[in-house]
Amino acid sequence: MFGFEIVDLSVPVDTWHMEGNKRYLDADWFAERLAPQISQLGVHYMSAIVDEWMACDLGTKKPQYDIYGWWPSPEKPPVLIFSTKGLDLEPKGPATDRAIANVAVSGIADYLMDEDSHEKPPRDCPNYYNPQRKLEVLTGRQKFCKLCTDKLRAAHPEEFKALNMILAAFD
Ligand SMILES: [Zn+2]
Repeated sequence: MFGFEIVDLSVPVDTWHMEGNKRYLDADWFAERLAPQISQLGVHYMSAIVDEWMACDLGTKKPQYDIYGWWPSPEKPPVLIFSTKGLDLEPKGPATDRAIANVAVSGIADYLMDEDSHEKPPRDCPNYYNPQRKLEVLTGRQKFCKLCTDKLRAAHPEEFKALNMILAAFD
């Protein structure tokens, strides 16, 4: 149900957010700039992988910094962003493949459910927030927790099945 295609995107990255002397990619803004390419490419989702520090909700009361996975609210175009900065991921290999799959699954699931990730365990749920950015959480075998399973299966049964297949792709 989900197919993946790799494309090279050149996106003018001309606005950055500086926090102290750390430079951040503004996820909301970046996604807006990428969005027109979704229809040009004829895909349902676009998932961008960047190697920059990432922040979102800038200009709101609760800006978030050093996030690695970002997805938009449901009324926005489906652009998902994965920042590999500072995660110590290998450039390639099975752990990196798994991390990319896990982040894609959590982005799609949270976009569909209009949910934020949960800070409570279990830590191996794709929707776990992972505030300490632990690599083993990101590269481990993930499965939806009971709560997320119930919600997702009820509202989006087909996608739920397909997302589980992505999670199982490296077993
Ligand atoms: Zn969960």
